[in-house]
Amino acid sequence: MAVYRIYTYPERILKHKAKEIKNINGGLQEFIDNMYETLHFASGVGLAATQVGKENALFVADVPVGEDKRKIIAVINPVIVESEGESSIEEGCLSVPNFRVKVKRAARIVIKGYDRNGKDLVLEATDLLATVIQHEMDHLNGITLMDHASLLKRDAYIKSLKKESK
Ligand SMILES: [Zn+2]
Repeated sequence: MAVYRIYTYPERILKHKAKEIKNINGGLQEFIDNMYETLHFASGVGLAATQVGKENALFVADVPVGEDKRKIIAVINPVIVESEGESSIEEGCLSVPNFRVKVKRAARIVIKGYDRNGKDLVLEATDLLATVIQHEMDHLNGITLMDHASLLKRDAYIKSLKKESK
């Protein structure tokens, strides 16, 4: 297994849209294992393929759901088929370190896609899991937290990055 480098804002790859995965094979299984490894190494709750520089429509998540329970998922070619309600949680992102912003999202979603073995997957999600999934699906569309931030917040963050690199 391997830990991938996580690309960070403003690296261009984060703006790329992921492409549909056509082949669910051994290479992809290995990629998914490494995605989990990378997610856990970085202590994150979700990771999209575009964050490690791959334009694959795929994300993994490991999210606490209630006491002592976790939902660990890998979803290939995810599509939201139902969404309702509204929820606003302060989010962070492995690709935008030291930055948090509240994002309005659906409170409950149902997604469709494929699991790591290529089997049809339908998943209902609420609360934190719903937020994480929508966040990761944003990544697959080339959208980061920075696109949800106010101009003021974005400018301040860019300034802080410039200071760091000096
Ligand atoms: Zn993110």
